[in-house]
This record gives sequence, C-alpha cells and structure tokens, in this order.
Amino acid sequence: MNQLSTAEAVNSLIQELNKLPGIGPKSAQRLTYYLLRAPEEQARLLAEAILSVKQETILCSLCHNVADSDPCPICGSDERDRSKICIVEQPQDIMALEHTRIYNGLYHVLHGAISPTEGVGADDIKIKELMERLQGSSVEEVILATNPNLEGEQTAMYLNKLISPLGIRVTRLARGLPFGTELEYADDVTLTRAIEGRQEF
Ligand SMILES: [Zn+2]
Repeated sequence: MNQLSTAEAVNSLIQELNKLPGIGPKSAQRLTYYLLRAPEEQARLLAEAILSVKQETILCSLCHNVADSDPCPICGSDERDRSKICIVEQPQDIMALEHTRIYNGLYHVLHGAISPTEGVGADDIKIKELMERLQGSSVEEVILATNPNLEGEQTAMYLNKLISPLGIRVTRLARGLPFGTELEYADDVTLTRAIEGRQEF
C-alpha cells in the first residue's frame, strides 16, 4: 500500500484505519480521502475524540463498565433494581441492552469470554470480581447474557456452576438470538424478547 505516488500522511492514515476491525483497505482509503476533504474542524474533533476515549475513561470498580465516573451512573443510580445483575462480555453489550429500555437492573462486564482455543481462562476475565461482588450481596437473580456462541456458552456454563450454589437464581437469555451471533449486533426487538423470555439455566 506504500505507493510513492501518495503523500506519506495519506498512506499513514490509511494504514492506521486499516488496523481497525471491519475496516478493509478500500474502506480505509475511502475514509482517508473523506477526511482529507472534510473541514479541518471535523478532523480535529475526531482526533480529539479518539484520544479522549483513551485518556478520559475509567472502568467502574463495581461493574467494570467503561465510564467517566466511579461508580458509573448505572451502579450509582437509586432507580436501578439492585436485586438483578446482568453479566455481559463487553461494555458495548450494555449499550445494546440499555437501548431496549427493558432491563432496569445492574450489570457486570467480564471483558471477554472463556476460550481454551485462544488461551483465555477464567482468571483472565472479571469472574473473581463478580464472585466478590455477589458474596453477601442482596442480588437475587443473575442473568447470563454472554454471547450465543461457543465461548459465550462455555462461559455461561462455568458461571452457572459457580453462582447457583450461592442460592442465587441463574437465568440465561432466551434462544431468540441466532447461535454464533454477538449481542452488540442484535436488534432491539430480538434483544427485548431474549430478556423477557429468559429461562432458568
Ligand atoms: Zn458500574
């Protein structure tokens, strides 16, 4: 891609964008030339937003969601139902679930899923933190909302084994979600049905 006919700065931006998930070389080129023509203000705002997301966010010490305060607005809210914790793999899954407005409990972000093939074990994700959180808490239900794929199912099974002996009700999202998909890409209607139709694990 390093063509002599192209300015170095252009090549460099194409290369960086190409490293992003879902952005192939063609899209990287299109975005680069779009930004080249866009007002400087727009490019500056984008650059600043990228830096801010790295420099100005923290993880909530309770739910491990990405936030700008600790506890995050959900953990700190008086209006959330503290008897329920929904377990998700990634912060963006919370965004998807919140968008449905159907769920009013708390969350816990694992930051991954157990995957022996990729060398991710139970100790590599926020399971210990979850168990500490559940000990002596008033939580009555844990909803396992890990992705409906192999890793997500393995993680859900593992968590069920750990949590059900605590006398906490463990549920799993309903099977409306096609196997192999990821929560963050599910539409609101499918997600709402999956939460409403959740079943005992
Ligand atoms: Zn939180």
